[in-house]
Amino acid sequence: MKLLVTGGAGFIGSNFVIYMINKYPNYQIVNVDALTYAGNLENLQAVQDHPNYTFVKADIADASAMDGIFQKGIDVVVNFAAESHVDRSILDPGIFVKTNVQGTQVLLDAAKKYNIKKYVQVSTDEVYGSLGETGLFTEDTPLAPNSPYSASKAGGDMLVRAYHETFGLPVNITRCSNNYGPYHFPEKLIPLMIANALADKELPVYGDGLNIRDWLYVEDHCSAIDLVMHKGVNGEVYNVGGNNERTNIQIVKTILEQLGKPESLIHYVDDRLGHDRRYGIDATKLTTELGWKPKHNFETGIKETIRWYLDNQDWWKRILSGDYKEYYNKQYADR
Ligand code: NAD
Repeated sequence: MKLLVTGGAGFIGSNFVIYMINKYPNYQIVNVDALTYAGNLENLQAVQDHPNYTFVKADIADASAMDGIFQKGIDVVVNFAAESHVDRSILDPGIFVKTNVQGTQVLLDAAKKYNIKKYVQVSTDEVYGSLGETGLFTEDTPLAPNSPYSASKAGGDMLVRAYHETFGLPVNITRCSNNYGPYHFPEKLIPLMIANALADKELPVYGDGLNIRDWLYVEDHCSAIDLVMHKGVNGEVYNVGGNNERTNIQIVKTILEQLGKPESLIHYVDDRLGHDRRYGIDATKLTTELGWKPKHNFETGIKETIRWYLDNQDWWKRILSGDYKEYYNKQYADR
């Protein structure tokens, strides 16, 4: 099995690469990542010398670079590569369309040309838009993205669907809720709050803090993608979520409590533009049809995550100071 993972130097992608190498040491894994600000090869130190692991620095929107990778033989593609931060998409939507829509189309073309066995698109619950106080997103919920980020992810999903319908490409789409865990880039809610709290800095909370997200430990997302890639029925969408809905302010208060820091650090700021109020995932299809079961509950998962950020302060402090770029140059350009 030769598996192409795109975006494998990011948060979920790097957790997935490590998960797959541990579980299937005989699979050959090619990690393609453009190493944007969010890509960090340091996440992959544990596997970088594994004989079945290769890293290629390339942009998924670069058709000739992708052709060069696919022509060496790829069986399965799992596409994580994306611009992923909603706030950045509000400031600069163009790069989101380039990577999340055009990049997906380039990968689909290569997948079609080289007759790959499976293409898995890692998408998000955000494509469904925002929920009211009740109800959950199912795979049949109409797409109604509200941010440039989620609109670009929905655009990618539509292309994946079209390549299945038009060309019979063997595809799946997974739509997961918010992930948390090790190697989460420290601009996102949980690591940002941990880093600020440890430095006794204000914790910026959008609006009234009552927006709800459904949190899943990243390893449980990896196990879901593993199942979908091996057993997913071609053309199907699978929602992934762990029934862990929490308001943002609950998350922030949990972090402060765990770290023994005062709630006076909380600082409410103007709400994000177009901020979705609530996401909630119904993952019944994945659990009943493919037998997926998450291992982590939120209470233990968040404690383990906080512990990881405490034990790995060098990792996120280097990112915050921009030193990880120097790390890359040292690691690769000087070889
Ligand atoms: P991330 O921002 O941490 O990582 C993205 C990775 O993609 C980075 O390593 C980056 O360098 C790489 N990348 C960006 N543009 C690229 C390009 N043009 N070519 C090649 N590589 C490129 O993101 P993440 O949080 O790990 O999310 C991974 C995927 O999962 C995304 O597709 C995202 O939409 C989806 N997702 C994320 C969450 C979440 O909670 N983080 C939830 C559901 C779905």
